[in-house]
Amino acid sequence: MKFSEYRIADGIKTAIAKLEYKKPTDIQYKSIPPILKGEDVLAIAQTGTGKTAAFVIPILHVLQERKIKNRRDGVKCLVMAPTHELALQIDQVFKSLGRNTRVNSLCIHGGVDQEPQIEQLAKGVDVLIATPGRLFDLVSQDYLNLSRVEILVLDEADHMLDLGFIKDIRDLMRHLPRKRQTLFFSATINDKIKKLAYSLVSDAIRIQISPKDPVAKNIDHAVAMIEMDDKRFFLEDLIKDNAEHKILVFVRTKVRAERVKKAMERVGIVSDTIHSDREQDERELTMKEFRGGQLKVLIATDVSARGIDIEGVEFVVNYDMPESSENYVHRVGRTGRGRQMGHALSFCSTEELDLLEDIENNLGKPVSRVDITKKEYQYTKDVSDANTGDWRELMKMAELDELTKPKKKNKK
Ligand code: AMP
Repeated sequence: MKFSEYRIADGIKTAIAKLEYKKPTDIQYKSIPPILKGEDVLAIAQTGTGKTAAFVIPILHVLQERKIKNRRDGVKCLVMAPTHELALQIDQVFKSLGRNTRVNSLCIHGGVDQEPQIEQLAKGVDVLIATPGRLFDLVSQDYLNLSRVEILVLDEADHMLDLGFIKDIRDLMRHLPRKRQTLFFSATINDKIKKLAYSLVSDAIRIQISPKDPVAKNIDHAVAMIEMDDKRFFLEDLIKDNAEHKILVFVRTKVRAERVKKAMERVGIVSDTIHSDREQDERELTMKEFRGGQLKVLIATDVSARGIDIEGVEFVVNYDMPESSENYVHRVGRTGRGRQMGHALSFCSTEELDLLEDIENNLGKPVSRVDITKKEYQYTKDVSDANTGDWRELMKMAELDELTKPKKKNKK
């Protein structure tokens, strides 16, 4: 089925064509009709599957048809997202797909002055995209009327739970009308998520997509056995071999992110970091440069990079193995977006083998191994530009590596 055959406003179809989306993706195919009918939806959708447009398209149509007369009487659709980056991204999708409609949208998140947001809200907003913290702040100060919300969307609900937003979400529910449409999106599902979903959604809900293989087909992912202290040589090698490509590197902590950046700097590689210790405007600038391709290597922590959609990331590198198998799925999902091919490579040290085991159990199959012979391994270390550096620096780095090694997990 093509988008042209859907019963949605022509202006939205034109915007879809402009984005060069030809056919709906699986999640769009399954979600758009029930959302248009006003049903509640629980969608378990992989990242990168087109899930944002899966709710944006029908919501725009429904609001456009309603011919909203008075936007000042309150927000009609509230979208909650866990991070600033994701909230901004969703807003951009509303703006680009809604360019030919009368529906307007606003994104509010913390870390910036609230006054301009309050002014915009006073002018009237149809679709509000918000992170829970700031949203709750504004509601408690009485700047935001949510009594007219007809559609509530929770995006990356699993991530919101991880970030401890559950209480905020529950508190907010008291400000929303009971009769509303609720759309619940999550990349992963477990008992906690199910409980949250069932507590929010009253009608029958549909589980739209539950892929057997949570990693999208167009991503080839593999793991290489590399010891902690050697990882930087292999990252250097991979980046230098793929100098033209966009590479997203995942590390476990903010401190590690800065340290990997420094290690790359020493061997002449330009990179930048994204994590919660950086100022919001710095984060936005870094993301802009990475999006635009001026920055080729971005080093990120899990929290900062969940759900963000960046065009043309050819490689995801798990410099540190993710601490949960769900994060593995999220991380590798940053490449191979839409219809592009992507590659993901994990560096796994001896200490991280049990993390790899968990990931493979969750995927239900082994992750393919990259064979590195002893000779190749040694060669990669020998040719590193770090060998020309100051040995004291290297010693200091090795010591710090030791300090930030993952804690041994207790076997269940
Ligand atoms: P999302 O899962 O919402 O983060 O979307 C992942 C990527 O898929 C984004 O870059 C979208 O622009 C792209 N996308 C969404 N829908 C389609 C479609 N129907 N055809 C091609 N690409 C799409």
